[in-house]
Amino acid sequence: MSLSTYRADYAWQGHRWCQDTVLDVRDGHFVIDDQAVANGSSTRLGKYVLPGMPNLHSHAFQRAMAGMAERRGPGDDSFWTWREAMYGFAQRIGPDDLKAIAAQLYVEMLQAGYTHVCEFHYLHHQPDGSPWSDPAAMSQAIVEAAEEAGIGLTLLPVLYMTGGFDGRPLGERQRRFGHTVDAYLRLVDSLRAGDGTRKTTGVALHSLRAVQPDAIQAVLGAIAREMPVHIHIAEQVPEVDECLALRGCRPVQWLLDSVAVDARWCLVHATHLDSGETRALAQSGAVAGLCPTTEANLGDGLFPLAPFIDQGGVLGIGSDSHISVSPVEELRWLEYGQRLVARQRNVAARQAGQSVGESLFERSLAGGAAASGTTIGTIAHKARADLIVLDDTSPLLMARDPGHAMDSFIFSGNVPLVRDVMVAGRWVVRDGQHIEQSRITDRYRRTVERLKA
Ligand code: ZN
Repeated sequence: MSLSTYRADYAWQGHRWCQDTVLDVRDGHFVIDDQAVANGSSTRLGKYVLPGMPNLHSHAFQRAMAGMAERRGPGDDSFWTWREAMYGFAQRIGPDDLKAIAAQLYVEMLQAGYTHVCEFHYLHHQPDGSPWSDPAAMSQAIVEAAEEAGIGLTLLPVLYMTGGFDGRPLGERQRRFGHTVDAYLRLVDSLRAGDGTRKTTGVALHSLRAVQPDAIQAVLGAIAREMPVHIHIAEQVPEVDECLALRGCRPVQWLLDSVAVDARWCLVHATHLDSGETRALAQSGAVAGLCPTTEANLGDGLFPLAPFIDQGGVLGIGSDSHISVSPVEELRWLEYGQRLVARQRNVAARQAGQSVGESLFERSLAGGAAASGTTIGTIAHKARADLIVLDDTSPLLMARDPGHAMDSFIFSGNVPLVRDVMVAGRWVVRDGQHIEQSRITDRYRRTVERLKA
């Protein structure tokens, strides 16, 4: 493959802005030579170039119901009343619908600066619970949507077996999600066959409510050592209480005590942690998967950010229900939630002089890359060539030196400052427009109009 040579006034590399950087790209990956000097044959990208952000948690179909569960019901609304609305919507989605919704979502992710998505995919079967003629039809819809949009994908087929910690059967509206362990492992195997530069397959255990201990052990014993493992862990207080009642300890503690949790794990919504769990999770090296806009929208609670960072914890961000699709908004809410509770400023920056935006962006790149199970989230030799170019003509970046550029990007923009986006060496967003935007959005419009009818 031929070599493309780019240069940036400032590129975010190795935890800091590096001036006058030359970026070579070959075969979808960076070729970085520290001694390289920009010459006339290189293409200038812009003033500020950043690695693309991994989105470590997504349920793509939920994008099509964003904004449709914000009207108060007869009693107090909660995560659980939202879940009923979501189950009702999920009943109507088939493979073609899922592909249309996911492709539109992934276009929006790319325009916002996400270049990779971890799709936590549990909508497997027909509405009555029987498999499609191709048991992987819904998974393939996700794969095809990601290919169309040109976003990187870590596909996480979800094992979902029971309706609670007590092992009760799935409810009627959960039948689409269910697998035996054997059928699940066959699905995982079939999906791994198509892995490559832009696609990786991992595994996901829906939650401790939905996968009992023997099934967790069976899956972990059967999968390849390098595969990422994701789980919803402690999003809601009632699930913490149910775990305490039936297992005698809290969910994160139970998981850490029961299996070898390490850096390949991503604990999504590790929201409710006591101080011992916070320390143990940080020491495990697992990624805390945080989804601040969804967690705010669903009234989940707040993650103990400062002690987790202080103890060396790894974190990343996801847009989960897609009530918002913006790494900027996730990071802003991650910090602002802490400020509102602590009545302090600059919480995520733990040392004097440190920038909050730089700290959060850098941590989320590293945690997102680990959760993705692939070499992304960094402008470094041999990493996949994913990058975003900020719009340096925006008034928000005028007269900003590099020391304030990231904080201006994260905290001050209401119009996205992402101008151009590259995934695996290919431009997918130019001047804010996705290369397949009109076709994908037209199909999405037809799909949601039909679903509404
Ligand atoms: Zn989720």
